[in-house]
Amino acid sequence: MSEPEPEPGRRRPRGRAADGRTPAPVETGNDGQRESSRLERRALDRERGEPLAAGERARPQPRATDRLARPLAEWTSRPRILVTNDDGIESRGLLALKQALDPLGDTYVLAPETNQSAVGHAKTMMRPLRVRERTLADGSRGWSVDGSPTDAVSLAFLGYFNLSFDLVASGINYGANLGDDITYSGTVSAAMEAVINNCPAFAISQEYYEHPDFTLAGRAAHVAAVNILENGLAPGQLINVNVPAIGEAECEGFEVTRMGKRIYQDLLIERVDPRGIPYYWIGGPPPSGLAVPGTDFHAVVNRRIALTPIQLDLTARRLLGRLRSWNWQLPAEGAPVPAARPVSAAAAQADEPLEQEHELERR
Ligand code: MN
Repeated sequence: MSEPEPEPGRRRPRGRAADGRTPAPVETGNDGQRESSRLERRALDRERGEPLAAGERARPQPRATDRLARPLAEWTSRPRILVTNDDGIESRGLLALKQALDPLGDTYVLAPETNQSAVGHAKTMMRPLRVRERTLADGSRGWSVDGSPTDAVSLAFLGYFNLSFDLVASGINYGANLGDDITYSGTVSAAMEAVINNCPAFAISQEYYEHPDFTLAGRAAHVAAVNILENGLAPGQLINVNVPAIGEAECEGFEVTRMGKRIYQDLLIERVDPRGIPYYWIGGPPPSGLAVPGTDFHAVVNRRIALTPIQLDLTARRLLGRLRSWNWQLPAEGAPVPAARPVSAAAAQADEPLEQEHELERR
């Protein structure tokens, strides 16, 4: 190839064409900063299996990252798209997502047999998985697994279909997955599982209402899929899409956002079962959130479709330096361990009314 190798430590610009249409990024900042960020990028490239500097051994390229990202008109075969969700194989949202993506490529539906909402990234390890072929409501074929969303994606990538995939789409979830929700979300976890398998992915959710119309969310899914297929995602990245529960006419378009802050209003509900034994249910009203401009929550409440870039690297980068400044010496054997002052009896008693308050809340 005539394309020059990227200079050491510099990631090949994303989506860059062989003819060099895309200009190289302009570097700014002083030399010291530039050098340290260069070294950090180099380390990240190595961790993520991205192209390395000339002379260093490159790892095998994952399928369908930058390499395949190009205008759909230039694809020599139809993209293969895995469609899954956490609401289960019978969800109308799943069917709406499949139907929205059918014109783009060959879709394969493999989803949990039952509703797996809020199972997070659970993976079934201690029992077998059963897969059943199903007929979806539009007469097309799908498959269900008696496991989690992550199980469904794992099965597909471990060879259930004997195929590889160019994109994984998860949803359309009944209910938004905004801010902290993604730490519970089976919908988003399915997309994460795809990313772990080096396949680009997006999750799509719609604000909850009782009889949802998925027209707007279906169109948003189509746009998201085209963008990912044409522009590519780097390894470790996915997009979390949240759609307001409104018609197309009222929608104010897309907004690229960051994760917002959810406010949960969970209550512990105590009831008594027919045998007189108490049981508990985590209930309460649906979560609210902080409507801070720039966040996913703010976009959706303002009738925009939120596009939040997510990465699996959860490292708290700002904490790295602080953490290094703490004392991490293992104490010598027998050395006194620092301890908090013993709690006085009076202070211990002051805790008790809190317990009583909790009791009251339960009733
Ligand atoms: Mn769900």
